[in-house]
Amino acid sequence: MGPEEFDRNVELALADAQLRRNFAFAMGSFIARRQAVFSDAAQTERLRGQGQALKRRVLSRLPELLEELEANCTRNGIQVHWAETPAVANRLVLDIIERHAATRVVKGKSMVSEEMHLNAFLEKHGVEVVETDLGEFIIQLNGETPSHIIVPAIHKNKQQIARIFHEKVPGAPYTEEVEELNAIARATLRRKFAEAGVGISGVNFAVAETGTLCLVENEGNGRMCTTLPPVHIAVMGLEKVVEKLADLPPLLRLLTGSATGQFITTYVNLISSPRRAGEKDGPTEVHLVILDNGRSRIYADPELRQTLQCVRCGTCLNHCPVYTRIGGHAYGFVPGADRQDPQPPGFRTGPGRRPHHGLEPLRRLRGGLPRQDPHHRAAAAPAQRGGVTGGRERRARPRQPPQPNGAAGLGRVAVSQHPPAGQPPAELAAGPHRQRAAPGGAPGALDPLPKGAPFRPHPAAPPGEGDRNQR
Ligand code: SF4
Repeated sequence: MGPEEFDRNVELALADAQLRRNFAFAMGSFIARRQAVFSDAAQTERLRGQGQALKRRVLSRLPELLEELEANCTRNGIQVHWAETPAVANRLVLDIIERHAATRVVKGKSMVSEEMHLNAFLEKHGVEVVETDLGEFIIQLNGETPSHIIVPAIHKNKQQIARIFHEKVPGAPYTEEVEELNAIARATLRRKFAEAGVGISGVNFAVAETGTLCLVENEGNGRMCTTLPPVHIAVMGLEKVVEKLADLPPLLRLLTGSATGQFITTYVNLISSPRRAGEKDGPTEVHLVILDNGRSRIYADPELRQTLQCVRCGTCLNHCPVYTRIGGHAYGFVPGADRQDPQPPGFRTGPGRRPHHGLEPLRRLRGGLPRQDPHHRAAAAPAQRGGVTGGRERRARPRQPPQPNGAAGLGRVAVSQHPPAGQPPAELAAGPHRQRAAPGGAPGALDPLPKGAPFRPHPAAPPGEGDRNQR
């Protein structure tokens, strides 16, 4: 989307009084709930430090942990697939569905699948996709995309949802009673769960040590998607791997506390294998699709690597002064699930797709997003030359203070590393390092490399290098 279209969207969003009221109400409630659950500042600081240390350790061993995850999942009977691009990931998912002659899939909320535009791809190939998370179900009925990574239908109020159900669900009466609206969704979805040939889910954390997929949710739909259909396909970005099962409690505490203001979600699903002999339920096949889509380039960039610490809690959206006034749709993509550049939401919520959150004190895992803003802005500047912000960035750069680690200002480092827009830096141009797909990642052009082919970190980014901006 160009700046003109974005400006138009902003005008429309700002003129929509109902949208602004909906956002103001939802964000106020999010912020209050999170404050309540993290009311003990010292304890919260300790927890954040713990989460940061765990994620930093993951990044220092990422290639190795991905190999370990694959080995342990495979040992458990989970089939692991690597995808360099969304096109390859979509093709992999479709191949599995077609192999089982399934025509309907039920799907839990997954921002990676938004990044892949999976629904549109499957529907184009004749597969019915049923979103089963209530928020996703609502916006799917209304032909929309999510407006928030945690609460997809955050921009709708009760009356709007009542109208959508009444108009789009055959036989549904108009009701504003929440219980009745839930009952309509439940009755509609139950039949779909029972008839689906494949269930698709995201992954919150994938435990390398045990080959376990962890999935948190509040509605039970995730459990239904991963239990009822005979085949379960989980999709994840490669940064979701964690070292040990013991790492989950602090990370879950941070994620759920930040995302929904809960100490723990209603359901915490740990999936370690397909149905075993003697078990009464569960799919007979479980697949894990691991998507790169630029993440290994981010990993190879010492300035950006720490963004892979993001646990997609959505807090930076809730506090972003721009996002909270215009909502997610104005950007033309789902902040935090952008197909072109999978970054933490906070990077992509400012005007013209530039970071604009300024939330240093709020960063949940001390990812230091604001400290990386100059790097992103400098990288974007060539494309925006002559534009308002491009000029502003260039003027602002010389005023950056010296960095405490002794490096030159981030802006200057970034400029020296980034070529003109559209071209990767020369040292990263070799592309992703876990090559399981043919060059170009064309659908259907999978190149079955020998099993165990190593994921290779870029030599320019030795483990730990990316932590240099951490405090
Ligand atoms: S970058 Fe945003 S979504 Fe990611 S962990 Fe930090 S606050 Fe949460």
